Amino acid sequence: MNNIVIDLHSHSTISDGLLSPRELINHAHNKNVNVLALTDHDDIAGLAEAKKEAERVKMTFINGVEISVTWRKRTLHIVGLRFDSSNENLKKNLSLIRKGRNTRAQKMAHSLGLAGIGNAYEGAKKYARSGTLGRIHFARFIVEQGYAKDIKSVFKKYLIQGKPGFVEHEWASLGDAVQWINDAGGSAVIAHPGRYDMGSKLYPVLFDEFKELGGAAIEVISGSQDPSQTKYFSECASKYDLLASCGSDFHGPGISFREMGKPQPMPPAVTPVWRDWHEVHASFQ
Ligand SMILES: [Zn+2]
Ligand SMILES: [Zn+2]
Repeated sequence: MNNIVIDLHSHSTISDGLLSPRELINHAHNKNVNVLALTDHDDIAGLAEAKKEAERVKMTFINGVEISVTWRKRTLHIVGLRFDSSNENLKKNLSLIRKGRNTRAQKMAHSLGLAGIGNAYEGAKKYARSGTLGRIHFARFIVEQGYAKDIKSVFKKYLIQGKPGFVEHEWASLGDAVQWINDAGGSAVIAHPGRYDMGSKLYPVLFDEFKELGGAAIEVISGSQDPSQTKYFSECASKYDLLASCGSDFHGPGISFREMGKPQPMPPAVTPVWRDWHEVHASFQ
């Protein structure tokens, strides 16, 4: 049973990943992933292609999305899993978020222009094959233009609060995001909780509020989290009566925190978010 590899967080070219949905499924398959969710930022346009390819290679596929949320002046990411992808309300609200994202991109380009980096909108667009623009696309353009040596140093010099290219932006509310996911029959998950700038006092407030709003799970295992964080978040999951999820947050070969197919083991004390998912249990057999 432990040999089954479940990865419930990954990206394709529909948002800021490097592989198309079809390529992503094949990559995951080659890395021995048995169950995969595609969770592009604020967009579910890749699900149909990914599902079809997953059926072809006999991999279990889970519908997913990663919704950008503003909570107490912070941007959080809420993953939605196993919802009905034809749900009109979810589709409509995701399209509104993408419109906001595009407005933000134009403002970011303007701000970078004032700092001497011209044509950033068009430049970033080259890196967004089919999706809408995110900070990572600007980062790739800034490296290409020689203003920073790598993606990491872009984020030190640009695009973060107080630096050129940073734009204050209001995403969806936490309550709205959870409700859209729940209304579409899915489960809402706090993505990579270790990546937020929150002290130990604020985490309990977030988990408490998330549970109250109808949230289902925490990503106890994430590609960007270390074992001490896994321990803390699995204790939080038990304490706040939340389920546990795991995902690599894979964006493409060479640019991800962690390669697919090698997750840390799920701590035995937690209850997995796939507890009642028959298709996942079927892949255990
Ligand atoms: Zn994220
Ligand atoms: Zn992600």
